[in-house]
Amino acid sequence: MNPLARVIVRQCAATGPMTVADYMALALGHPEHGYYMTKDPFGRDGDFITAPEISQIFGELIGLWCVVVWRSMGAPAKFILCELGPGRGTLMADALRAAGQDPDFVRAARIHLVETSPSLRERQRAALAGHAVTWHDRLEAVPDGPVLLIANEFFDALPAHQLVRTQAGWRERLVVGNETGLHFILSEAPPPAAALLSPGVLRTAPLGTVAETQPALLTTAATIAARIAEFGGAALIVDYGHAASAPGNTLQAVRRHRPHDVLAEPGTADLTVHVDFEALARAAGAGVQCLGPVDQGEFLHALGIKARAGQLTAAATPDQARDIASGVARLIEPDQMGTLFKALVLTRHDMEPPPGFEGRP
Ligand code: SAH
Repeated sequence: MNPLARVIVRQCAATGPMTVADYMALALGHPEHGYYMTKDPFGRDGDFITAPEISQIFGELIGLWCVVVWRSMGAPAKFILCELGPGRGTLMADALRAAGQDPDFVRAARIHLVETSPSLRERQRAALAGHAVTWHDRLEAVPDGPVLLIANEFFDALPAHQLVRTQAGWRERLVVGNETGLHFILSEAPPPAAALLSPGVLRTAPLGTVAETQPALLTTAATIAARIAEFGGAALIVDYGHAASAPGNTLQAVRRHRPHDVLAEPGTADLTVHVDFEALARAAGAGVQCLGPVDQGEFLHALGIKARAGQLTAAATPDQARDIASGVARLIEPDQMGTLFKALVLTRHDMEPPPGFEGRP
């Protein structure tokens, strides 16, 4: 049993079994043993690889997207450029390099990163050397003002409750442990988190159904929407998940690019759920325009991924050209990240639909 599993067993002995949400929060964020606190999980030698780490084109296209959206905000002379969970800082670095085509944009941007991991903050500092950057633990601490916000693979890491439909009604999946290891049990009482489930899930859930809800996703979406409604701006949210609320157990652990037992050696594997974009949109509410989600493949097509790949390939060696092509395929092909990953945008009601979201409900 590893040190974090022992912490969890002790905590359960003191205060009883814990929710999957509390387990996720500890596995990812425990100050000493949490997955993101200690490691740099990205890349071929790490545990998983994200879109900006696959190809520089991802961040570049998002940077150019930001310039267009900033112009349609009226090109404010000062605005908050905020990223949630920036990982290694690669997306922001690529975005700022591409956005350098419009020096007014870069001059106007105040870069604010929301990141809890000290080691990843250091990676971000290095990636963004030459830019003035402010870090925050929480979105609530980011200053007020017009905002462009980016979040790639952030929401999937927010703690999720798992509820199970039983004969007696909804019960919650809980984690408990002893010296032999951690295991799941069901709560005896109806769980408060059941109140957060989407209406669509509640109506259609047969016995045995597992349903998930991420309270921090709902509050974060509401906070972003309130800022956009008050100060203007837009938020681009990219993640894997489903467009419409649906039941299902999507909790997964990944280590060294392979599935891992979610309860084994907590803190040594990434732990995520699929994002419920319908729940996210509902939490954002009617105070903002919400467009999408659109499939990542379609979104990147609309932003000109093929043209940018063509430009890079023209100046590349044959090996580099092969890498560019395989990176692009990975981002857009339906059997890779093209359809599982989706993009959703929130804007103030008075804004034009941003690139990639034209004609979208
Ligand atoms: N956006 C990056 C990294 C995705 S991984 C990329 O696409 O490569 C998730 C990121 O969110 C990491 O940087 C992690 O440290 C951060 N993170 C996870 N939970 C967080 C929380 N509750 N608050 C702030 N940052 C968090």
